[in-house]
Amino acid sequence: MRTVTPRIEINLDKIRHNAKTLKDLYGKKGIQITGVVKGVGASLKIAEALVESGIKSLADSKIANIKKLKQSNLNAILMLLRTPALSEIEEVVRFADISMNTELDVVRALSAEAVKQRKTHQIILMAEMGDLREGILLKDMPAFIEETAKLPNIRIAGIGTNFACFGGVIPTEQKMRAFSSFVKSIQSQFSLLLPYVSGGNSANYNWMMHTQDTGLVNNIRLGESIFLGRETVGGTLIPNLYPDAFCFVAEVVESKVKPSVPAGSRGRNAFGETLSFKDRGEIRRAILGVGRQDVLVSGLTPPKPFEILGSSSDHIILDTKKVPLRPGDEVKFSVDYGAMLSAMTSPYVYKKYVYTSAKAQKASLSITTA
Ligand SMILES: *Cc1c(COP(=O)(O)O)cnc(C)c1O
Repeated sequence: MRTVTPRIEINLDKIRHNAKTLKDLYGKKGIQITGVVKGVGASLKIAEALVESGIKSLADSKIANIKKLKQSNLNAILMLLRTPALSEIEEVVRFADISMNTELDVVRALSAEAVKQRKTHQIILMAEMGDLREGILLKDMPAFIEETAKLPNIRIAGIGTNFACFGGVIPTEQKMRAFSSFVKSIQSQFSLLLPYVSGGNSANYNWMMHTQDTGLVNNIRLGESIFLGRETVGGTLIPNLYPDAFCFVAEVVESKVKPSVPAGSRGRNAFGETLSFKDRGEIRRAILGVGRQDVLVSGLTPPKPFEILGSSSDHIILDTKKVPLRPGDEVKFSVDYGAMLSAMTSPYVYKKYVYTSAKAQKASLSITTA
């Protein structure tokens, strides 16, 4: 029987290995890992694999995913990675243990809702350290904390920061020291207990490996390094991790020898782009039954010697060089974060979980059915 295409194959053993290895590496420096599952659509099988690897908290930017994780009764603390929208406060208090915050109006709304639900909601205050996405300006933090302290049913569980997401600002030794000393000053001013001093994401790997002093940082939020085995400042592979826990599989639906240059007077294509073509004579062109509607095509890397010529909503056109593909043949691509994210969240892409060993598969089956 043929397996469905397009599909993304997810090797849970490789993810487990990456998660355990990173947990140990960061653990040696006194840093706990929060597993960020937004890039994999908060897949429950993957979330479970992370928890089995010893990761105790999971984070996502979408409250719908936090709700799904909460309802699956995973043994993990659930964190909303993005400051809540005022329109989702009720669900945030109901399903998230912790949310990241930067706006007083939002914290006030969380407090009022937490009173209503007879709960304490925990918050991590994000500090703006220069990357210019989310964050409270450092000079505004003391007043923000004073106001928050007056609100019932809200507890400050930590201070966090984020790098390399918008401005591409690198978490250097100097930046990280500045963050820690800022946290220290806030901590002594307000005598706060801070279970989460959350210093960043997969971009913090080089800092963590090379620094002599991790300061007050005791938490890092990791997605890409766990799933794709890389740090994100230079995009380099982390030693001893699998870079190929995910692969994207598409199927050939047409394969013919055709010219390399379109014939006729040309305008814009279906995506408003005007492409130029080099005349390479007649080439072997394979069409795959998948396109931009299913996956971020620019994030796919085909196996050698294939080359992606282009794509439309439902087609990818490959130059297969000397390899004569036939309809029904499968092509396996490696994925970057964007391709992984798009495939994992697309309803058109089948998710196939694979295991390296039969023993691991059995163990995992007994866990899911238990
Ligand atoms: C997405 C995200 C992360 C995880 O980033 P990776 O590069 O995948 O490790 C961490 N923190 C925040 C606030 C995020 O939005």
